[in-house]
Amino acid sequence: MARVYNFLPDQYDRDEDLGINHNYLLEQFADKEEILGKISALVSRCDFTLGREVDEFEQSICRLIGAKHAVGVGSGTDALFLSLKALGIGAGDEVITTPYTFYATIGAIVTAGARPVFVDIRSDYNLDPDQIEGAITDQTKAILPVHWAGLPCDMERIGVIAREYNLRVVEDACHAILGRRHNTFAGRFGDTGCFSLHPLKNLNVWGDGGYLVTDSDEIHERMLLLRNHGLVGRDECAEFAYNSRLDTLQAIVANHLLDKLEVITESRIANSLYFDSQLAEVDEITIPDRPNDTRQVYHLYVVRAQRRDELKDYLQSCGIDAKIHYPVPMHLQPAARKFSYSRGDFPVTEEICQTVVSLPVHEFITREQQDYTVSKIKDFYAG
Ligand SMILES: *Cc1c(COP(=O)(O)O)cnc(C)c1O
Repeated sequence: MARVYNFLPDQYDRDEDLGINHNYLLEQFADKEEILGKISALVSRCDFTLGREVDEFEQSICRLIGAKHAVGVGSGTDALFLSLKALGIGAGDEVITTPYTFYATIGAIVTAGARPVFVDIRSDYNLDPDQIEGAITDQTKAILPVHWAGLPCDMERIGVIAREYNLRVVEDACHAILGRRHNTFAGRFGDTGCFSLHPLKNLNVWGDGGYLVTDSDEIHERMLLLRNHGLVGRDECAEFAYNSRLDTLQAIVANHLLDKLEVITESRIANSLYFDSQLAEVDEITIPDRPNDTRQVYHLYVVRAQRRDELKDYLQSCGIDAKIHYPVPMHLQPAARKFSYSRGDFPVTEEICQTVVSLPVHEFITREQQDYTVSKIKDFYAG
């Protein structure tokens, strides 16, 4: 068999066997008839590409988080990639980012032609602002922080550094829709804030989709061109560009869910705080600091655990979908070899990748399931 193949179908089959799952899509879309009705109307109208629902979704996002502009694109990865392109960042440029993230953050930087320059994280899992200045060179063009697990980074500090060194800021807010730091929503601090609509994100659709927000008229206009072949109108191309549009069909699903997003978010927060309260008494588990005046939206619930791999296997054997996000940091991936990092370069990240475990906290998890999870964790350490 080929070494590289489509492994996703196998993964979904495996997940189905677990009672307490990270994947809750079947429950979430139990009311699919209403969405299917809207899709059926779309099929009669045929405005599949950049249809009216895309405009409607963009306007709703602007209202929701107070942004001036929102642009629907093909994925969260494309939101990041096209942001860098719109800011003129590419070959010969460096972008400072975190080695503790999902592959897409780095993929966007590298495919834009730039070089990722990693800076270690803090024990809250986010980029350490104290280490950013030490990584700035003449080639540095931007800082790309990731609001990991839905906890907004210290964007005031990052903003001060960016202004001092004249750097752009692109936020990877894919985990952080409706997250807030003080009174500002995640995604609203940088030149652009980038979001994903992937099925397992807090606001999700039936496939791939993404969007970004910006207050800049200039970036907005560039984004409209970049996502749609550089077209000003049907017969005028201002620049040869990409095809990365949010599908109308996916915009219908996103619009349907927008009204529920606050409830989804609140239930993730309540479930996470409940885990915090129950796990506080387990010495082998370390809960990260929960900063005041910050709204973390818990795309993931991530704690550190002693004997992590054994704990994960044990919980899986009890039907609990404990997951590792992620065991190998970006600088130690085969894809990063050409950037010449080595083990030991980012000690906090490396330690965290070896100890973190994620527990399901989505809106369909019940208190009983959470209590069961906690009791199994206690059993594991008692045994
Ligand atoms: C999901 C995710 C992305 C990419 O989003 P896609 O829509 O899957 O392309 C980027 N960054 C982070 C941190 C993510 O979790």
